[in-house]
Amino acid sequence: MRSITGKTKKVGIIGWPLGHAASPRIHNAAFAALGLDFIYLYLPVAPENIAGAVAGLKTLGFDGANVTIPHKVAIMPFLDELDESAKLAGAVNTIVIKNGNSVGYNTDFSGFIQSLRLAKVDIAGKKTVIFGAGGACRAVAAAFVRHGADAVAILARDSSKAAATAGLFSSFGFAPLSGYGWDEAACLDVSAQADILVNSTPLGMSPNCDAMPPVRWDVINPAAVFVDLIYNPRVTMLLKEAMARGHKTINGEGMLIEQAAAAFMLWTGQEAPREVMYRAF
Ligand code: NAP
Repeated sequence: MRSITGKTKKVGIIGWPLGHAASPRIHNAAFAALGLDFIYLYLPVAPENIAGAVAGLKTLGFDGANVTIPHKVAIMPFLDELDESAKLAGAVNTIVIKNGNSVGYNTDFSGFIQSLRLAKVDIAGKKTVIFGAGGACRAVAAAFVRHGADAVAILARDSSKAAATAGLFSSFGFAPLSGYGWDEAACLDVSAQADILVNSTPLGMSPNCDAMPPVRWDVINPAAVFVDLIYNPRVTMLLKEAMARGHKTINGEGMLIEQAAAAFMLWTGQEAPREVMYRAF
């Protein structure tokens, strides 16, 4: 049993609710493996308390935190500084407290890229579709435009949110972005052309495992790759359906570990023991 002292460094995960979070397990195993005097805590914060949570991290002497659903965008105005990765993605999933200042980063962005690299999926020149228009979608969209995707279409249940998220990236000038409600006719065209389709909604996440975003299988390119950011369950309904049709599939596990490894580096200055993280997961 490890001992916690007044010198133990504190990090944690801010979200609401926090039932599904795997990060405490992953990070605590990694700290223990490297003998680092850190502890990673669950920090459930209701949406109306988000400003107080940032102030609390500073006053309670935390070294930083991860940020998850539903706070990744809402927390941004309460931080003292934003790193380029957070500005690019328009969302924060990692906070570092540096000299009393809260600095927001986005390690989902690099975690997503790295997970595709590990699965040997190239982004350059590819037409892409993202289901969902929330915080994770922003990181994925930013990764696609920055890494040379040919086109990015954001499909969401609310067309105005899809268009607004697409609009955030339109000034980048790298790849054409579009946003549609997923019941609009245009979805048929973008789906038919897509090389990579990503689920960034919680549809299919435990315990609602029977849900999935609306995919028009009749028009999908047989060579298209399906990515689900969900990691619980490991094989979602979307990935099951895609596998049954012979598509290459990638789940959210690689992104989870890679975004955690990048946050670990920011807090500790050390390379994360990925194998330990995978085992703990
Ligand atoms: P978020 O900011 O809350 O965004 C969720 C998006 O999904 C929004 O566009 C939301 O639409 C939509 N949505 C939610 N419930 C829906 C439903 N029942 N039907 C249709 N659309 C729905 O969440 P997030 O941070 O982007 O996370 C999204 C998913 O990605 C989660 O499953 C999360 O676990 C996963 N994720 C995984 C990793 C990883 O490392 N593998 C990292 C980040 C996120 P509205 O705006 O209309 O509500």
